[in-house]
Amino acid sequence: MGETPAKSYSRPPMTNTPADLPFDLPEFRPGHVWLVGAGPGDPGLLTLLALHALRTADIVVYDALVDRRILGLARDGAQLEHAGKRGGKPSPSQPDISRRLVELAGQGLRVLRLKGGDPFVFGRGAEEAETLVAAAVPFRVVPGITAGVGGLAYAGIPATARDANSAIAFVTGHDSGGAVPDTLDWPALARSVPVLVVYMALTHLDEIARRLIAAGRRPDEPAALLSKATTPRQRVVVAPLSGIAEAAKDAAIEPPAMLVVGEVVTYRDRLDWLGSLAENGEKP
Ligand code: SAH
Repeated sequence: MGETPAKSYSRPPMTNTPADLPFDLPEFRPGHVWLVGAGPGDPGLLTLLALHALRTADIVVYDALVDRRILGLARDGAQLEHAGKRGGKPSPSQPDISRRLVELAGQGLRVLRLKGGDPFVFGRGAEEAETLVAAAVPFRVVPGITAGVGGLAYAGIPATARDANSAIAFVTGHDSGGAVPDTLDWPALARSVPVLVVYMALTHLDEIARRLIAAGRRPDEPAALLSKATTPRQRVVVAPLSGIAEAAKDAAIEPPAMLVVGEVVTYRDRLDWLGSLAENGEKP
């Protein structure tokens, strides 16, 4: 009797796919850079391509926001390099990091540039990609679940709900100099977008809330601050917009954190599935 032959897993690591998939994933070639989003924290939110890249890369250049458990998925022998702490330098500039990627690819390595969330959402992935283009380094972009989508879902806050909003805006609470961006038309945003998700909101939370209220948002509009969303240390603070900064301070909320403003926040009262699972003693 012919036995069904066991599936072969003897392919070299270079083409090792993450699971027994009925389709091929692209080959991660030496000398290439993959700019990959690691999602907001929970390793379960990685894409198949991200897992494939982790299992294949020779070197992983990662950002501070990338969860340790995700780095643990890198193949044995892969080099892990923190983009923020190299050669004893405290904080390399963005051009330094981009140049490093070019250098590593030039050594013929498979370079995985791993970023929190999505690489093209407030992640400076575009700048790195531009440098790769200029240096003629071949690259691929693997999107990830951005915190503004994944974090909201884990907080039981729908990004859109039919009865609440037909638009949403992702906004940064920092400009490149670290201040609340003046280039943003706050009154226009406040007037026209029912749900605002503010990344990097913690440092200037008070000022952001004040600007939004000055621009016409109701002081009692529901707001939420999501910290470390999708990780075991996720915390969510809900308060009226006028009180959100104080509530965050009282709760000693830590970064990374994002602000959500809009009616959709009230859905959490019913849709906090993570809280319900925990209440039922289930491990989320
Ligand atoms: N590229 C990332 C964003 C990088 S900017 C993405 O797509 O998600 C860093 C900001 O993202 C943080 O200041 C915070 O506002 C937000 N952020 C990232 N991960 C988060 C998380 N797990 N919980 C809450 N906010 C998060």
